[in-house]
Amino acid sequence: MSAKVLIVEDEPAIQELLAFNITQAGFRALRAEDEKSAWLQIRQNSPDLILLDWMLPNTSGLLLAKQFRSDASTSSIPIIMLTARGEEHDKILGFESGVDDYITKPFSPRELMARVRAMLRRHTPAIPDEPLAIDGLELSPISHRVRASGINIELGPTEFRLLYFFMSHVERVHSRAQLLNHVWGTQAFIEERTVDVHIRRLRKALEAAGKDHLIQTVRGSGYRFSA
Ligand code: CA
Repeated sequence: MSAKVLIVEDEPAIQELLAFNITQAGFRALRAEDEKSAWLQIRQNSPDLILLDWMLPNTSGLLLAKQFRSDASTSSIPIIMLTARGEEHDKILGFESGVDDYITKPFSPRELMARVRAMLRRHTPAIPDEPLAIDGLELSPISHRVRASGINIELGPTEFRLLYFFMSHVERVHSRAQLLNHVWGTQAFIEERTVDVHIRRLRKALEAAGKDHLIQTVRGSGYRFSA
């Protein structure tokens, strides 16, 4: 399962260059040239990382970064901003908007890919290969599949990692902060209520196979996976 990198860049030549380097490095490149197509890609393909240009038609990368941070579906996706401006002031504005890293144009492909890899490593906690099975619920890290009662359960990448973490740490209560730390990695820009949003989605997905009861809310503490 190769990581998906969404490129939000309106200049075709730069978009092409970025996509080429990302594909060469073994990742999947998703492309968008404006705000609308960026959201479409996010909804359809759930990228693992966003490369975001500062100057976009009808909006700025800065505004878009703020939107991504405040939306539950995108708040955990790391963002690398592409900018022609190298000034300190702009960088600070970007970091305040939730950008995780910067690349200044013109960029060296090697530096770009080093940053992309570092960011993906930091934000994707490693998942070992062994399948897990608890109370009829089966999770296979290799095929990225979850099954129960003969039904395939479709999960987004965050819900999948969340379920994996629960299934490998059963009968323990995890606070929201602990879940953020283990499942999302150490990121400064995520709020704890984001966890509740993903728990809700995970429960909804498990409901179809009658397994939503496995994820229990522990009042005042957090969540527990219990068979
Ligand atoms: Ca541009």
